[in-house]
Amino acid sequence: MTTITWIGLGHMGSPMSANLVKAGYDVRGFDLSEAAMSAARANGVKTCGSMEEALQGADVVFTMLPKGEHARAAYLGEEGILELAPEDALLIDSSTIDVESALALHKAADEAGFVFVDAPVSGGISGAAAGTLTFMIGGHPHAVEAAAEHIRPMAGKIVPTGEAGTGQAAKIVNNMMLFICLEACAEGSVLADRLGLDPRVFWDIASVSSGNSWALQTWYPVPGIVDSAAANNNFEATFSAVLAAKDAGLALMAGEQTGVDLPAAKLVAERLQRLIDDGYGDKDCSLITKYAAPDGKI
Ligand code: NAD
Repeated sequence: MTTITWIGLGHMGSPMSANLVKAGYDVRGFDLSEAAMSAARANGVKTCGSMEEALQGADVVFTMLPKGEHARAAYLGEEGILELAPEDALLIDSSTIDVESALALHKAADEAGFVFVDAPVSGGISGAAAGTLTFMIGGHPHAVEAAAEHIRPMAGKIVPTGEAGTGQAAKIVNNMMLFICLEACAEGSVLADRLGLDPRVFWDIASVSSGNSWALQTWYPVPGIVDSAAANNNFEATFSAVLAAKDAGLALMAGEQTGVDLPAAKLVAERLQRLIDDGYGDKDCSLITKYAAPDGKI
């Protein structure tokens, strides 16, 4: 049986690793949070007391960590993955991180003799639970093919993006577009309400009209309209404002590096940062809707 080590059992890592358990893999997991470990245990993941223990006997290692700094620490740090993983383990980073960090991980993994791919995902926690995520994978074609075999139980689509780091480049652009669509839903839902429209009637129209988007279908920020929306659950995070602000920041950084002006992305990045400044960093990113409302009431 193939042994998979999963590092980072949060909102995404938990349902993703659960799908590997269901597919018959022996999954060993590690997270710094005991609550995350306990939820993973309930899904059949064999949780371990340390990264070192989790890496024992790994054929494949997945990481699903918050930011570039966490991924760098997990791979490159003392007693990290490159130091402790079995030498023939295949390494797959599915976190969303900056391209520079992804390239640093590729280089270090290559120098240490490992096969590594950057394989970020899109589809949110609903796609993670359903096993329908889109994976965008950067790296050597042989490595991408090897990774795809183990990614299949979690994926609706697997797209090779080209050389090292291109998976992250695709993910950063995709998420920039997602947040702009989310801002459109935030402004649209408030304006529809203030114009006296019934939210269900308006959503039904937009969802079969030119206002449709993934954000509208999955994160529409009004309670009682879309089952998967955080709005139904007092904006408890499905995708936290902190992580969304990180991704919007990565897009702005890429814009600066390439000389591309991104005014819409800038606006939504400011609103996500405002959520953090106002103490809502752990809440869902769709709470930016409160800044679209003149009185802050949604
Ligand atoms: P999360 O914060 O819920 O989970 C991250 C987990 O990593 C936490 O449980 C944390 O304790 C753990 N962790 C941090 N450092 C660690 C370490 N050194 N060792 C072990 N565990 C460690 O975040 P998430 O929402 O699951 O997102 C994870 C990644 O996926 C992020 O890069 C995010 O941008 C990306 N992403 C999220 C979504 C979403 O909808 N939530 C969708 C697509 C991609």
